[in-house]
Amino acid sequence: MTSFPAQARQVRDTDRPVHHRLWALRGCALSFPPYGFRATWHHLVRSARIPRRLDDDPDALVRAVDELEAARQLALGYAAPVVAARRRSKTAGQRVPVGSSRWVFGQWSSLAYCPDFTHHPVEPLPVVVGRVIAAHRAGTVDSGQCTVCGADRTRPRACTRCGVHPDGPAALSARFRHPDEADRWRRTWQRAAP
Ligand SMILES: [Zn+2]
Repeated sequence: MTSFPAQARQVRDTDRPVHHRLWALRGCALSFPPYGFRATWHHLVRSARIPRRLDDDPDALVRAVDELEAARQLALGYAAPVVAARRRSKTAGQRVPVGSSRWVFGQWSSLAYCPDFTHHPVEPLPVVVGRVIAAHRAGTVDSGQCTVCGADRTRPRACTRCGVHPDGPAALSARFRHPDEADRWRRTWQRAAP
């Protein structure tokens, strides 16, 4: 599997055909999908304004990878020392963390998972990742408020305001499918959705 940094370099490589660069961006979003892959992709298409015809604005691909990479650096900056400390203090009975903590151990789609891929936070990804990290530092991840937008939330539901599910993809990905998800995803991938 190609690493995120190698794929990010391909996205920025203007000597490559734009469609190769788009596929490299897809690889980056598969490698680091803080909302889950589809919601992360849906966000990037909008935030970087990736056009249907890539040649109209190839720099959009760079804007997208810049945003995603900044969010990844923040996440890694928090997670790496936590994982190292966990390794040093390997005691009996320590298990894989549940739900909202899994992302710290590399399951990035648990960071701010959005089961409806079109309903996700609208702020830049680094802002959202920063809020989740702040909640982890403050120990308020399991409080009654959404870690991303602060709205009151009721498990086991996604936040009605920002779309983030507190329990990550394990909670409901198999159960939750919007009736027209396949069609909406096709339009998102083709960057044809309004
Ligand atoms: Zn929220």
